[in-house]
Amino acid sequence: MGAEKYIPGLGTMFNIEPSNLNLESIGQSIGVTKLSQDLSRLSSDFTRIKSGSRNGRLFTDFSKWTLWYGTVAQTTEYNLTGPSSLKLTSDAANMTVAARLRQTSLDLSKTKNMMIRFYVYDRNKLSNIELRMSSTDNMAGYLSWKTTKWKTVPGWNEVMIPLSKLTVSGTESLQNNLTTLQISITGAEVGASVAFDAIYLNKNQKGSVQFHFDDGWLTQYTKAFPIMLSKGFVGSIGVISGSVGTTGYMNLPQLRELHTYGWTIFNHTQTHKDLSTISKAQVEIELSSCRKWLEQNGFPESADLVAYPYGGHNEDVLSVMSHYRLGRSVLEEYEVCPPIQPKVLKVINIYNNTEDIIWQTAIDIAAETGCGVTLLFHKIEDTATDSISFATSKFSSVVNYVQSKIDKLDVLTFEEWAQSI
Ligand SMILES: [Zn+2]
Repeated sequence: MGAEKYIPGLGTMFNIEPSNLNLESIGQSIGVTKLSQDLSRLSSDFTRIKSGSRNGRLFTDFSKWTLWYGTVAQTTEYNLTGPSSLKLTSDAANMTVAARLRQTSLDLSKTKNMMIRFYVYDRNKLSNIELRMSSTDNMAGYLSWKTTKWKTVPGWNEVMIPLSKLTVSGTESLQNNLTTLQISITGAEVGASVAFDAIYLNKNQKGSVQFHFDDGWLTQYTKAFPIMLSKGFVGSIGVISGSVGTTGYMNLPQLRELHTYGWTIFNHTQTHKDLSTISKAQVEIELSSCRKWLEQNGFPESADLVAYPYGGHNEDVLSVMSHYRLGRSVLEEYEVCPPIQPKVLKVINIYNNTEDIIWQTAIDIAAETGCGVTLLFHKIEDTATDSISFATSKFSSVVNYVQSKIDKLDVLTFEEWAQSI
């Protein structure tokens, strides 16, 4: 796992002002009272989410899939469901490798979603993964789902596939009895391997949306908070402890006010260094300093929830993260709850140039399939001034759109979501 960062839409990185922190001494009673209120308010939600989290009907464990072309093998190396997983590996003769399940009978006419679980061996060698389903033996027409390596993480992945978003090639329909399925991978180079473990149908859980605001910018308080409040929504602030109270950032009373309204204030390090570029000892300091600050200033419950600055993480970072509950990247995907990679959580990045269709689709998919989506914002400004700003009016549109689907979605903070898994 290298220092690779995929940050679509983020042109220039921003600099953090030197710390000029002057901690105020305010009693802890507000935080404690607030926490117990939160816990009782949310316990029924947690129970409901938890009880539904592992639902879904196993459609295939991949043990009966067979070679179509390339290097395909049954393996127990990475296998959670059934007797074996199906490992596809690109080789010199076949950069695209495929396996099929035939003479099956799959009626998807009443199915909302599929969840596919697979293990990515070396992401750098991979290009993409594709699933095709057809009602004919020769796959003249088919329904397909495709993902790129950028939407996967090294190791285990669980991905929701909303059936309404399948691509139709030729003449094929969800109303047909699907008799032939094909899974394939294409390597960017020889030796790309993916082991497919299982596909579940109709993962039955209510969708969730998280609003994450990284860095603790002042405009998150002045612009986003009133809009969120008007709908009764709660959000989460990834705070840079060394920047609190400095120019452009929220101060401690503002963070405490958000917290009183149920917001989660979580760990975004002390000085916002890319953790994949510094020593393990420095990583420990970055995370533990912010953790200590959160614990000492009234936000102890979420001090071990982390967002990596710039999404930067590597094996050293993940090793340090064994002492923290959850870690959030900037990789773009949806989450199945509970997450199979709790230290590499994924988001949908929303920047100045993000088109409406991006966040609309993300919210639609969460509502439709029951997966979790985290919308990640930075600055919220009436007129967006830089690449990490999002216009206030557009932010209102996002909030209104979530509100319009609220019967199918829970708006959760990072801490609430962490409690639900
Ligand atoms: Zn940040």
